[in-house]
Amino acid sequence: MENNWKKETQCVQSGYTPEDGEPRILPIFQSTTYKYSSADHVAALFDLKAAGHIYSRISNPTVEALEKKIAELEGGSAALAVSSGQSAITLAILNIASAGDHIVSSSALYGGTYNLFEHTLRKLGIEVTFVDPTSDAGMLEAAFRPNTKALYGETLGNPGLVVLDFAKFSAVAKKKGVPLIIDNTFPTPFLNNPFQHGADIIVHSSTKYLDGHATSLGGIIVEKGDFPWDNGKYPELTQPDPSYHGISYHTAFPSMAYIIKARVQLLRDLGMAMAPMNAFLTQLGSHTLHLRMERHSANALGLARFLEKHPAVEWVNYPLLETSPSYELAKKYLPSGASGVLTFGIKGGADAGKKFIDSVRLANLVVHVGDIRTCVLHPASTTHRQLSEKEQKESGVSPEMVRISVGIENLEDLKDDISQALDKTR
Ligand SMILES: *Cc1c(COP(=O)(O)O)cnc(C)c1O
Repeated sequence: MENNWKKETQCVQSGYTPEDGEPRILPIFQSTTYKYSSADHVAALFDLKAAGHIYSRISNPTVEALEKKIAELEGGSAALAVSSGQSAITLAILNIASAGDHIVSSSALYGGTYNLFEHTLRKLGIEVTFVDPTSDAGMLEAAFRPNTKALYGETLGNPGLVVLDFAKFSAVAKKKGVPLIIDNTFPTPFLNNPFQHGADIIVHSSTKYLDGHATSLGGIIVEKGDFPWDNGKYPELTQPDPSYHGISYHTAFPSMAYIIKARVQLLRDLGMAMAPMNAFLTQLGSHTLHLRMERHSANALGLARFLEKHPAVEWVNYPLLETSPSYELAKKYLPSGASGVLTFGIKGGADAGKKFIDSVRLANLVVHVGDIRTCVLHPASTTHRQLSEKEQKESGVSPEMVRISVGIENLEDLKDDISQALDKTR
């Protein structure tokens, strides 16, 4: 899987390499099942002694091509594509934690992840302690318990846009002997590689920039491949699995134990597989990831600077603005761009925010980020509305906040549209 290609080349070329006479374009293997002529061969597949596809709930050639590509872009040993970002996060946790276990997480989280951790995991007996990601290492360590199984955070917390202090988080994870799990959805592997900064597992909502065209839900889990699962805390990875005729994942697959277990045990049992069509569209979109992320980032910085000077605007938050509390961390971890999402507060509070959203023409009110088309949203009344006001505040949402997912249109056209909508709020 390793090659010396730079990311731009990987975006275009990785994941699928046709043999002579095969289609140049990755085929959509719209098949639930696979044909074999030997019972012994199929037995070897079930025993994980031969590589191959058995049933599309577990693996599929089109989905596999996407998995290979993202694993390569992130520099990981293996990846697993699933039906959505939420599925990826759920599987990433359930793969190493069960009832009675505990997780420590940054509190600057996507609203859906916060709900999953605060409410649904709790119902399954897994407790999550949230820690402000800007608090010091001592505070982070203090949240750990003997039964803590993972440390979790987002590279770029959605929608507060807090850049994670990887040095601090990875040092604590290492000291405590747990994997650092990072949601890298906003930067994508083109703008940040969490494995280079101490992460052990990466999750993505491929629904966002990896697809980039708002066609397909999807999620991806990537494993770095060198976490010491045999440190005594993870018997499910080292001891024989009675649900898979006694295999020890760590012994059989030392560099991809986590992904193999997630696939053959949890994906087998829970079934949140990615559809081949979605994998095809996502990998098609990912061919231009490098070009899109450059333009998303440049447009977002340009629009942020424009908004900073606008009289109708109270404040602007974008990690690469000098005024951002995350500016130093953004320069360190997102040197070539901070992705396409920015937030700002309109003078006049929530009412002005709604008026602005009703007035944009080129930008659309859409519950989405990461699309090539510019989208605007009022988080407090939409994505974060299931959260209490206190929970909203902890997740970085205020009543006057507007979120823009800046697309790849012409920047001057965007400024014109945003400007005319802002004028209507005054
Ligand atoms: C959207 C999103 C998710 C959830 O992904 P879905 O594909 O919508 O299930 C998780 N994390 C982040 C940062 C997101 O933006």
